[in-house]
Amino acid sequence: MITINKLTKRFGEHTIFSDIDLTINKGEIVAIIGPSGTGKSTFLRCINYLESANSGSISINDATVDCLQPKKNDILALRRQTGFVFQNYALFNHLTAQQNISEGLRIVKGFDKQQAQQRALDILTDIGLADKANNYPAALSGGQQQRIGIGRAMALEAELLLLDEPTSALDPLWVNEVLNLIKKLAKKQQTMLIVTHELQFAREVADRVIFMADGQFVEQGPPEQIFNHPNDPRLKAFLTQIG
Ligand code: ATP
Ligand code: MG
Repeated sequence: MITINKLTKRFGEHTIFSDIDLTINKGEIVAIIGPSGTGKSTFLRCINYLESANSGSISINDATVDCLQPKKNDILALRRQTGFVFQNYALFNHLTAQQNISEGLRIVKGFDKQQAQQRALDILTDIGLADKANNYPAALSGGQQQRIGIGRAMALEAELLLLDEPTSALDPLWVNEVLNLIKKLAKKQQTMLIVTHELQFAREVADRVIFMADGQFVEQGPPEQIFNHPNDPRLKAFLTQIG
């Protein structure tokens, strides 16, 4: 289970969010939607300490970080429980598709070279890209690059996958192949927290949708409730604008 307690983040004098609580059950798919600049990415990045929160705590399984006094080992333990999928893929350009997946396995999981290569190939097969194992990112489509980005996160078998707008940098042609891969992961009960502006996708795949605005979780519930029976005026306005 994932428990976030009273998480607060400031950049200088500017409070991005304060005292946010969130519990995610094993296998649950939670989508965060909301206007630009409201703190969605920052919240996701604080969960695996790509950014440090100012206070609050984050627990994933037996890894707990107290953000007021974070200990290096606790942060490393937390990172081992999470995988992050970036909007712009963030692949290493000098590594092949297979190496992009196997490197993490060697560094994070301590696999030897052969084990890591084999596991990377298994993942590539799983995501339908075994024939691209030796391609460098420049020789892959955007959709293929993002599938590798997801494969890299999958390979680590993290408790929680964090995905920050995984399709928003993609040519529309490639969006579906990436969404289909995420759906496949959802079927395998992979716990995920996904920031997305693909509302139809959130409706289909999420167990719970959170509407974030002005640094707060304004409203949350099952997709049916959020999309068909919104309460808060900010959510209603957002849905009208974006829909
Ligand atoms: P979008 O939908 O456009 O991706 P978002 O909800 O993900 O927006 P964030 O990127 O989390 O928003 O940004 C929230 C606020 O924090 C913004 O006002 C942004 O300018 C500010 N911010 C983000 N990163 C930093 C930083 N490193 N230093 C200072 N301010 C930052
Ligand atoms: Mg963002």
